[in-house]
Amino acid sequence: MEQRGLTVWLTGLSGAGKTTISQALEKELRSRGCKVEVLDGDIVRQHLAKGLGFSKEDRDENIRRIGFVANLLTRNGVIVIVSAISPYREIREELREKIGNFMEVFVNAPLEVCEQRDVKGLYKKARAGEIKGFTGIDDPYEQPLNPDIECRTAKEKVTESVSKVMAKIEELSYL
Ligand code: ADP
Repeated sequence: MEQRGLTVWLTGLSGAGKTTISQALEKELRSRGCKVEVLDGDIVRQHLAKGLGFSKEDRDENIRRIGFVANLLTRNGVIVIVSAISPYREIREELREKIGNFMEVFVNAPLEVCEQRDVKGLYKKARAGEIKGFTGIDDPYEQPLNPDIECRTAKEKVTESVSKVMAKIEELSYL
């Protein structure tokens, strides 16, 4: 199978569905014999971005490092799935320019829904003031203005969200 490198960048609030979609997407791509890597923000923060905090500066540095690795893989023909809140628009745009073969997926669920899901119990802690600078609560999230795909996870099933991304990958001839 012919495959061109691509970075599929999933951005959205905590609990919006980035990890869920990235895992299902990885599975789908692997079943088609693709070379795939997943860079998950939570995991990256344990090594590549260890020691970085959640100030704007540190968040941007975290995203730049993920982008650096994604770029290397992309130019070697890998489909890279990035799952990271990546709250700042400017740095996402910077990486789009740098990587070129780049698809921005806005994983969009209303804050209330994410908070209700509270997959990791972090919203509760943020509301209680135990975590400061939590995206969506007391730290900004800058929505993509022109994403390649928008997955509205409060309304769609995971399979629908994944199908949308797969269709776009095919439409743009990456597969
Ligand atoms: P994030 O990685 O963005 O923090 P998670 O993937 O950990 O979010 O959690 C998202 C939650 O939303 C999961 O419990 C998942 O089952 C649920 N969910 C419901 N619909 C969708 C959908 N269409 N896409 C992704 N997740 C969904």
